[in-house]
Amino acid sequence: MRRDLFEEEHLLFQETVREFMAREVVPHHDRWEKDGIVPREVWKKAGEIGVFGFGVPEEHGGAGIKDFRYNVVITEEVMRIGATGLGFSLHNDVMAPYFVDLTDEDQKARWLPGFASGELITAVAMTEPGAGSDLQGIRTTARREGDHYVVNGQKTFITNGINSDLVVVVAKTDPEAGARGVSLLVVERGMEGFGRGRNLDKIGMHAQDTAELFFDDVRVPVANLLGGQEGQGFFQLMANLPQERLSIAVMAIASAETVLAQTIEYCRSRTAFGRNIGSFQNTRFVLAELDTELEIARHYVDRCVVALNAGELSAVDAAKAKWWTTELQNKVIDRCLQLHGGYGYMMDYPVAKAWIDSRVQTIYGGTTEIMKEIIGRSFGF
Ligand SMILES: Cc1cc2nc3c(=O)[nH]c(=O)nc-3n(C[C@H](O)[C@H](O)[C@H](O)COP(=O)(O)OP(=O)(O)OC[C@H]3O[C@@H](n4cnc5c(N)ncnc54)[C@H](O)[C@@H]3O)c2cc1C
Repeated sequence: MRRDLFEEEHLLFQETVREFMAREVVPHHDRWEKDGIVPREVWKKAGEIGVFGFGVPEEHGGAGIKDFRYNVVITEEVMRIGATGLGFSLHNDVMAPYFVDLTDEDQKARWLPGFASGELITAVAMTEPGAGSDLQGIRTTARREGDHYVVNGQKTFITNGINSDLVVVVAKTDPEAGARGVSLLVVERGMEGFGRGRNLDKIGMHAQDTAELFFDDVRVPVANLLGGQEGQGFFQLMANLPQERLSIAVMAIASAETVLAQTIEYCRSRTAFGRNIGSFQNTRFVLAELDTELEIARHYVDRCVVALNAGELSAVDAAKAKWWTTELQNKVIDRCLQLHGGYGYMMDYPVAKAWIDSRVQTIYGGTTEIMKEIIGRSFGF
């Protein structure tokens, strides 16, 4: 079916991003996988062609356009080439609302120009060694002392953890107040007592820097509180999670579509028993099922993008998109690997890397089980 999400301007931007990826990312990504990190220079180069901060107001260096379809264009181009090391979608899709919508004028002036230029890389630190799904179980605290908060605690699994300059830290400003005692503070690179631990040794996404962060009596100015009010952090997170989950769903579909297309090509050329493997009914049935499921999922996700732009994407809609598409992505890529035979197990073939990289998609941003909880709770039992 015809896809009608994009208009002329999105397609033009798509060409720009595709050309950028071919020139600045494709030739280097293998090396970044070995290095365990993407160099900061590529962020700056991406900033120069306007990849970051579409929603950043023009006076702060952005394009001043709130249209998630541009984010979709970028994410799809990144996934098309399997460049899972780039933390662009975390910066652009997940962090932008925190920095654009929850900042006062002073904070905007300090942070947004760097956000849009790619010189200030962002991260969000919710998860702790003892609390992931159960966000209210976090133990990091921010104690008010005059014009500062004193932050103590530890975070783990933080995307862009090594490269980040601005980390939105979820901390308890009132440990007795439950959900109303959580606040979001921006901790900046170089603040005394802010340390980074290991660049974690993951099974996939090797070019992505995922790290532990430590906070030891870090004095964070009250001017770095997001949203202007203490105790709102939990609700601010809840408000932004649907966009994060939709972003992951967009990644899932783009990645699975790419691998499916590669697999169809493989099935055309690989022969067994004197025929190409695409001529076996089983191969055609498997490909037909995957293609059908993906196309149906694609239309739901595109519809979610339109709903997000209209301010109508609910937490339940986004949860459905997230769990369904990421489980589907894993299924599609696993079946595609099978159709590659032994070659599918070799890193020379993109399906192998996609198989490893995609596994985390059902886990971060809220696990499949938590997504089902969100949907299930909506029935009001
Ligand atoms: C590569 C990577 C990048 C990440 N990036 C970030 C980041 O940038 N920032 C950040 O803050 N975090 C990040 N995370 C953390 C991620 O969001 C958490 O790992 C995830 O939310 C799950 O939390 P957990 O690991 O503590 O698992 P747990 O919460 O311990 O869950 C373990 C298992 O129990 C299940 N479970 C838990 N509660 C329930 C329940 N109520 N009902 C049914 N089942 C349940 C889960 O679904 C899961 O299967 C990242 C993780 C990874 C692996």
